[in-house]
Amino acid sequence: MKTRVAIVKCENYKRTEVEQAVKKAFDLLGGISAFIKKGERVLIKPNMLSARLPEDGVCTHPEVIRAVVRLARDCGATVFIGDNPGGSISSMAVYEGAGLSALAKEEGIELKEAKGIKVVNNIPIAAYIFECDKIINIPKMKTHSLMGLTGAVKNMYGAVAGLHKSELHKKYPSPEEFAKVLVDTFEIAKPSLVLMDAIVSMDQGGPASGRLKDTGLLIAGTDSVAVDSVFAGLIGVEPLGILTTKEAYGRRLGEAGLENIEVSGENIKDNLIKGFEIPGKPGLITALGPFAKFVAGFIKFGPRIKEKFCKKCMICRDSCPVSAITINPGKSVIDLKKCIKCMCCHEVCPHKAVELKRNFLAKGFGL
Ligand code: SF4
Ligand code: SF4
Repeated sequence: MKTRVAIVKCENYKRTEVEQAVKKAFDLLGGISAFIKKGERVLIKPNMLSARLPEDGVCTHPEVIRAVVRLARDCGATVFIGDNPGGSISSMAVYEGAGLSALAKEEGIELKEAKGIKVVNNIPIAAYIFECDKIINIPKMKTHSLMGLTGAVKNMYGAVAGLHKSELHKKYPSPEEFAKVLVDTFEIAKPSLVLMDAIVSMDQGGPASGRLKDTGLLIAGTDSVAVDSVFAGLIGVEPLGILTTKEAYGRRLGEAGLENIEVSGENIKDNLIKGFEIPGKPGLITALGPFAKFVAGFIKFGPRIKEKFCKKCMICRDSCPVSAITINPGKSVIDLKKCIKCMCCHEVCPHKAVELKRNFLAKGFGL
């Protein structure tokens, strides 16, 4: 039987419209009660990258989270929300800044933070991940400066506690190695249900300071790899060109062939997202064959702090896995010789003060 992914239109974040669209998306999969049972403990795992307002489009929108909370609770489950933002900032600060603290109070549910860790296959996972019976994954449709896209599989990297994320970046700096870590984490914290918030998405310089696009969709499924493949299909990208999808598909963790995915609700062809620009053109450098190494030596890119936006909060400095950042009262400095281009600083800066600087060759190769 083919894995099923539902695509539903939803034009804005008005509460009633989101509630109806989320219910419709789950109904197309057989109804949420087919997956969530009475008495179960259910973790809602949104994308809470940093303390950014809902309208910034960086985090999963609170109204999408609220709709899922209510539906899961209607099944008789005990629901809680948990995520570990990147870098040195606390989960509670991010929940507050991104509008989740207010939501949790209104809905009477608990917000989790990583008070302990459990190391599985050398990956330090927040202990609360193991306290739940089911996980509902609610990623945001965005680009990612290191991995190309961030969707359902990558969103589960939020199971890794706090600064351990940066440490793993340091240990596995290349996108290929890091994709393996992301999929390792996904295997440990595998969700039962996925709902991608693609009502407003982010392209170009995602995941924190890209361009917002009104894409007006929700994408739901039980197979995170298939949901990411449909995301790729909607923006006209080959699913296996995305490293996390390729790695997860290779491990048989889900379906990546669009021809093997039953898409219900809306279809891909009529809902193609035009002009969605992703960083990186996988395989372009490799395609240069024996010249690849030579050309790569001339490609220069890395983060830079835009002084006029910098509030000297130190979050980037404290999150950098190789201590490459010095924040000065005047001009701050990033030591590009030390920098491993993990882009954690770009992700965690709450003020869009870290940009990715590229020379013409890097731009040409889409890095
Ligand atoms: S660039 Fe400035 S504002 Fe952004 S995280 Fe670093 S210190 Fe804070
Ligand atoms: S300065 Fe470089 S190594 Fe440090 S967080 Fe930024 S991208 Fe990563």
